[in-house]
Amino acid sequence: MRVEDVVCTFCGCLCDDLVIETDGKKIVGVENGCTLANEKFMGDHRLKSPIRREGDRWSEVSLNDAIREAAEILLDADRPLLYGWSGTHGEAQSVGVHLAEILGGVIDNTSTVCHGPSIMAIQEVGHPGCTLGQVKNRADVVLYWGANPIEAHPRHLSRYTTYADGFFVKNSFRERKLVVVDVRETESAALADEFVRIEPGGDYAVLSALRAIVRGRGEVITGPVAGVSREQLVRVADLCMKAKFGAIFFGLGLTMSPGKNKNIRNAIELTEELNRHTKFTISPMRGHWNVYGSNEVFCWITGYPYAVDFARGIAFYNPGETTSVDILRREECDACLVVASDPGAHFPRACAEHLARIPTIQIDPHVNATTHLCRLQIPVAVTGIDAEGTAYRMDGVPIRTRKLFDGDHPSDTEILERIYAIVKEAKGA
Ligand code: SF4
Repeated sequence: MRVEDVVCTFCGCLCDDLVIETDGKKIVGVENGCTLANEKFMGDHRLKSPIRREGDRWSEVSLNDAIREAAEILLDADRPLLYGWSGTHGEAQSVGVHLAEILGGVIDNTSTVCHGPSIMAIQEVGHPGCTLGQVKNRADVVLYWGANPIEAHPRHLSRYTTYADGFFVKNSFRERKLVVVDVRETESAALADEFVRIEPGGDYAVLSALRAIVRGRGEVITGPVAGVSREQLVRVADLCMKAKFGAIFFGLGLTMSPGKNKNIRNAIELTEELNRHTKFTISPMRGHWNVYGSNEVFCWITGYPYAVDFARGIAFYNPGETTSVDILRREECDACLVVASDPGAHFPRACAEHLARIPTIQIDPHVNATTHLCRLQIPVAVTGIDAEGTAYRMDGVPIRTRKLFDGDHPSDTEILERIYAIVKEAKGA
């Protein structure tokens, strides 16, 4: 069977033009996907059944036993942490938030180690953003700052920027100017009309210098700033001011370098300065396919985008205190439920060691680095392949992902609803 207009559930681009061939049990062909998508759809390395660690061995357990054990671990905990959520659909995220509330635990998503600083900056100064469709159809200047889309979002350039012709940009490759700002010459930088190489940690200073030039106070820049010559700074500022429509995309090279949320605030304020001259927007390059959705769903229900603590009986949010890395580093939580992410591969060592000490449960289709830290793992269907649900693209556009065939595993939502039902009954709620 050939299915058209399939949504790729790998990165935040959520490309919705894939053509998938399936034999009803597995995927046998992918068209229009990048290499990451091909691996996602064609890879066949799923965990077959729930597994439990006994000493240094693993044994298979039934789904019913695994769900009951997961609920009991969470019920026994004084301060459970529910972490992950960026690799599952919005419906499952919603059940997760209600589960955290009834447990009085903390729920956090992967923004905590990626675009959390971006969200904090947006909370301070707002977000002059737009959809990717607007960028495709209008932008004649595009900046990637601290982002390498060729490797992390391979079709971003072909669907929305350099190689995508738009309504007002008929010959994109010639008409659209590409600027890349980074600390090293990445594959994306090699394509740029202007590559701005900055010294590591120099983002804030370079953003401030550009703001000064755009504000008409270029005379305060008397020499190079963070390794960037004055001439290049003036040239880039000039290019931006003369654009008909400009778009900045920033990645973890900006959010996670020294300055963090203040870097993003400065970049947003540069965008505001540019809007005195022309139209300019700024958007984060969200990584996981539904990390934006986790922020949306958390916000609808609790008012906060990540790191939500229900210990007081109400939602409380304080990045640096209620964020997963801080809770784990303080050895504060006594059980952890990991859903659709891999903190074992991304968290600092001290956090991973604490995850290995406490009962950690993982809900994920695949064996990953977190498997080696956890006590129990429940495999689930993969959203966009044998489960469906709602996801949010990196620009905040909700897109419905499709189920291509019936698989052998329940979805994240089904597993979480069953855990929630047991917890609810035990709590008499
Ligand atoms: S760019 Fe991202 S969403 Fe698009 S096909 Fe590649 S991995 Fe999938």
